[in-house]
Amino acid sequence: MPDPYDLLVIGAGPGGYVAAIRAAQLGLKTVVVEREHLGGICLNWGCIPTKALLRSADVYRLALAAGEYGLTVTEPSFDIAKIVARSREVAGKLNAGVEFLLKKNKIDVIFGQALLKGAGTVEVSPAQKAAVTPQAPIPKGALGPGVYNAKNIIIATGARPRVLPGMEPDGQLIWTYFDALKPQALPKSLLVVGAGAIGVEFASFYRTFGVRVTLVEALPQILPAEDAEIAALARKSFERQGIEILTATKVSTVEKRENGVVATLTGVDGATRKIEAERLLSAAGVVANVEGLGLEALGVKIERGVIAVDGLGATNIAGVFAIGDVAGGPMLAHKAEHEGVVCVEGIARKNPHSLDKTRIPGCTYCHPQIASVGLSEGAAKAGGFELKVGRFPFSANGKAIALGEPEGLVKTIFDAKTGRLLGAHLIGAEATELIQGFVIAMNLETTEEELMHSVFPHPTLSEAMGESVLQAYGRAIHI
Ligand code: FAD
Repeated sequence: MPDPYDLLVIGAGPGGYVAAIRAAQLGLKTVVVEREHLGGICLNWGCIPTKALLRSADVYRLALAAGEYGLTVTEPSFDIAKIVARSREVAGKLNAGVEFLLKKNKIDVIFGQALLKGAGTVEVSPAQKAAVTPQAPIPKGALGPGVYNAKNIIIATGARPRVLPGMEPDGQLIWTYFDALKPQALPKSLLVVGAGAIGVEFASFYRTFGVRVTLVEALPQILPAEDAEIAALARKSFERQGIEILTATKVSTVEKRENGVVATLTGVDGATRKIEAERLLSAAGVVANVEGLGLEALGVKIERGVIAVDGLGATNIAGVFAIGDVAGGPMLAHKAEHEGVVCVEGIARKNPHSLDKTRIPGCTYCHPQIASVGLSEGAAKAGGFELKVGRFPFSANGKAIALGEPEGLVKTIFDAKTGRLLGAHLIGAEATELIQGFVIAMNLETTEEELMHSVFPHPTLSEAMGESVLQAYGRAIHI
């Protein structure tokens, strides 16, 4: 029998493949088991292909507005098949990139479905799950089914779409994100159920290309994880773009017709309304892939549908770890990657730093973009903080005006007693790129004074960040 691996990782998503690479860097003999696609949901059917679609939407929006920039573009038009093909090509490139990185780091790959047979033992069989098509190629040189031993096992099996009763996806009329990422044709109308980041991004994409979009959310605000003021601004902007938004509303029934659905919507007041749409996109979140892994037999503790772990990803069973979506929220790729690094450094006893979940940024790549880190104003107040809140609109920022993107706001929240930055919330152009400045600031436990002493380059959108800090203390220059 060959020497056991130091580490076997189940799942090659951003959690799993990053953990494997860090392990290889630390000299651990490492193998990854993957049943479908290197790069996981993120690179194949999540973060990356959605951003490729949204980029097409941005370019189209700009082409439509070309006249405002002194350009003549005659009747911009689009071909949805080509937009989807570009998105798939981008995903394919990144999938191949992960294969390259694993090879470069001398990490073995086993292609198949993993089942834990005990701490340290994994049985791999041919994948039982029907792959989403088009499927990424099977990694070259991958090992096949068999029993594999490892001193440590990391479970990084990710998550899948949550299925609401009565809204079982059929790939035709009722979609999940898999279907919404590869439409064969654009529907005339789309009912998006769930106004979290995934629902909002698809609503934004489809609306840009002229689809009549209705966005339904059970909670009182769209983007429920975001600061209420920012979510309200986003709502106004989406409504101006023609997206119909119904909050505090649930879908109670869905009837399928020949070429569409009729959904009955019920508001919190009990009032009902019927709405017809050619397609329904169920975007009501995801559930962790904890089934079929042998967790129950091994006694791995599952709490509220996710694997229970400590700050280093350790489960209650020695030598078994979990990271990424399967280990709980926020279910984001960068959180999965970071957990992978922390977990492996813990396994290798390399002084892992702890991951502070309050400093994980969240980004939504709709138009206008939304990004945040730390506490919302509501959460900070509920936490008993006395606050200083800064606001600076993009309409007063030179670069935003030059870009023709004056819509947006930077909101900063400080602890009035200590000057500590508690949270930052952005809506507007490139918000998802800008947020990292505040993430670093929070990680360094920066105060308002240090931020005020920082020089923001001119002209940039980032100046609105500096001005927002100044505004919290009554010192903004440009408003
Ligand atoms: P996954 O990426 O889900 O990977 C898990 C892997 O495990 C899969 O490849 C799966 O095939 C494999 N696997 C599962 N079970 C087994 C088994 N038994 N044996 C072998 N292999 C197995 N996050 C962001 O941060 N930014 C975004 O912009 C963003 N956009 C998104 C857009 C959409 C449409 C969706 C659906 C998600 C988006 N996310 C985004 C979330 C992000 O994709 C996930 O948080 C991330 O992929 C989680 O990484 P993971 O490694 O935990 O799991």
